[in-house]
Amino acid sequence: KDTILEVKNLKKYFNVSGGVLKAVDDVSFYIRKGETLGLVGESGCGKSTTGRTIIGLYEATEGSVVFDGMKIHNMKKDVRKKFTRKAQMIFQDPYASLNPRMTVGDIIGEGIDIHHLYKGKERMERIYNLLETVGLNREHVNRFPHEFSGGQRQRIGIARAMAIEPEFIVCDEPISALDVSIQAQIVNLLMNLQQEKNLTYLFIAHDLSMVKHISDRVAVMYLGVIVEMTESGELYKNPLHPYTKALLSAVPIPDPDIEKNRERIILRGDVPSPINPPEGCRFKNRCKYAMDICGQVTPKLKEIGNGHYVSCHLFDK
Ligand code: SF4
Ligand code: MG
Repeated sequence: KDTILEVKNLKKYFNVSGGVLKAVDDVSFYIRKGETLGLVGESGCGKSTTGRTIIGLYEATEGSVVFDGMKIHNMKKDVRKKFTRKAQMIFQDPYASLNPRMTVGDIIGEGIDIHHLYKGKERMERIYNLLETVGLNREHVNRFPHEFSGGQRQRIGIARAMAIEPEFIVCDEPISALDVSIQAQIVNLLMNLQQEKNLTYLFIAHDLSMVKHISDRVAVMYLGVIVEMTESGELYKNPLHPYTKALLSAVPIPDPDIEKNRERIILRGDVPSPINPPEGCRFKNRCKYAMDICGQVTPKLKEIGNGHYVSCHLFDK
């Protein structure tokens, strides 16, 4: 499959009191057309900022984002308009991301109007169709967000994102705020839409079990950097970075034999502040393999074979 999104050396810094908050600090990855890349890490590791910068909600500090041949960093107005037609975002909090004063029909229709896609009767038909596609119905069109449950509101958010027929969607923890019983339904809806429309997803989540079923590949983030990236199955079978191993050891495995013999890795110490982050490897204060070099040289994300990337001095040649 062809690469549709390429992110190279992306940095997003914020000036804050006390220094520079390096939320995203030299992140590179690619996503192939029709694929889902899971982006996983603890809260505050920079995954949402990565998603928002890619989509253009934040201006990048440095680096490049290329989507389907379009350079998005510092893009010109006409390129931006073309890109916003093709890329959308689904937000974590369906309560906060829908305008409480707008009807469901107007929320979904907004993008259609901005991009002058349909008018009048066609526009209404499109909105009815979208409601049905996401599992709601046309009688919902004149209601307001507060009249719906959390899961239904996320369905409205998905319909809004789908309204302009995007090719790429950043899903920023779209199920984290929902009841466990609803999560699978929303994941299934997203996966069905992906199949039908050949959508490409960047799927952000804070734990590995959440992205396991939806992702073709997974990238693990820690304190503003990607520490490991590979095919989903490979990551769960053969994690290499000490941080990924620790994260995975917290995910329960249904097979009791494996579960019994498994090494549990308890992470000690805290995540350092992203304001003026430490030199060298950012994981070193919590890593039981840390060596002298880890305090001096920042490990680069390198391919060690078969599309499996890791940034750790244990894998230096
Ligand atoms: Fe641990 Fe060093 Fe690898 Fe960092 S580079 S994860 S400190 S071994
Ligand atoms: Mg977030």
